[in-house]
Amino acid sequence: MTVQLQNLPYAENALAPVISEKTVQFHYHKHHAGYVQKTNELIYNTDLENKSLEEIILTAASDSSYQTLFNNAAQVWNHQFYWQSLKPAASPVPEKLKILIERDFGSVDELKNQLQAKGLSQFGSGWVWLVTENDKLSILSTSNAQTPLTNGNQKPLLTIDVWEHAYYLDTQNNRAAYLQNVINNLLNWEFAAQNLTGDK
Ligand code: MN
Repeated sequence: MTVQLQNLPYAENALAPVISEKTVQFHYHKHHAGYVQKTNELIYNTDLENKSLEEIILTAASDSSYQTLFNNAAQVWNHQFYWQSLKPAASPVPEKLKILIERDFGSVDELKNQLQAKGLSQFGSGWVWLVTENDKLSILSTSNAQTPLTNGNQKPLLTIDVWEHAYYLDTQNNRAAYLQNVINNLLNWEFAAQNLTGDK
């Protein structure tokens, strides 16, 4: 077994009431764990078995015969990054990140507005991301399992899962309510700031 199911960085009920314990349980133990299991099945007894998750994703992304492996391995990485992008209690944006946000978006509120809009406009399943690209912050969305990890110019800072399984038990089809609640209450700005420089 190469690919591990990383522990959640908080208790399963820690994100409630924005994201219920039931949603976290299904999302983590069924969806995320399912991607881990499928990835391990697909790499079993192959050259990829002892590679890192990042290496598996980059290899799979470069060859369409690996589409199923890419989808599952990238979803493992995206979910690890998503759980770390959330934090039970809102905290202020660290100064070094705030300076860049104000430079590139005008204000933290405007960044939040654009995250909301990008998450809403992603048609079907996918992810919304805050990334740095060529030393500038930007917001983008990806479909299904697509991830900025495979774009060498883009460094992810934060992500929000906009697959229906991320919110359907809590807000049914209302993605806007989920996004608004997550953006205003759960984003881990310290994690985003750490990802700017890679320091921990
Ligand atoms: Mn998900």
